[in-house]
Amino acid sequence: MTERADKLQKIYKVLKGLYPKAATFLVHRNPYELMVAVILSARTTDDQVNRVTPKLFKDYPNPPSLMKADVKKVERIIFPTGFYKTKARNIIGAAAGVVEKFGGTVPQSMTELLSLPGVGRKSANVIRGHCFDKPAVIVDTHFSRVVRRLGLSGEEDPGRIEKDIVSLCPEDIQTDFSMMVNIHGRRICTARKPDCSRCPVSSLCSFLCND
Ligand code: SF4
Repeated sequence: MTERADKLQKIYKVLKGLYPKAATFLVHRNPYELMVAVILSARTTDDQVNRVTPKLFKDYPNPPSLMKADVKKVERIIFPTGFYKTKARNIIGAAAGVVEKFGGTVPQSMTELLSLPGVGRKSANVIRGHCFDKPAVIVDTHFSRVVRRLGLSGEEDPGRIEKDIVSLCPEDIQTDFSMMVNIHGRRICTARKPDCSRCPVSSLCSFLCND
């Protein structure tokens, strides 16, 4: 095991004690709802998404109903999440893709998920990790910042960060590790003011050492 892989395992163990039930904050009951929620989560908070999805899923409970939706009605519901015109087009298009290409079932493979409008690698990994129990390194702004500070990746590009972490992290803990690091970034290792004095992985952190 390389030094970095060993460090990742140590960080995982500490964070597991701190966040034993790390899960996505996006409220959902099935892969369809998570797919829509994760598309809506671009450039907004999970809380904001969770405020609009109850009405959205009540009116459009499955891909066939959403693909036939009136775009203006959908725009009105999701307006608070921002970029509502693009997002409305994307969720209606993704629902249509699920129906037309995958028989109404959200697909599991990365390639198939990436063929849906509005679904990028991060979104696809969220769906794969949370709904299908597939190994998934979920790289968002929190994850990128924290793994860089911890010295687990020196990359800026999300795709390269994902590659770095995939090479260090055993498959069976990738999704869990992603969520724990994400929560750590929201609660302690924040962008503006990381609370290093309260951080249980500070002894393993490159950022603190260089501070
Ligand atoms: S020690 Fe500070 S910079 Fe490092 S992970 Fe903890 S909060 Fe973030």
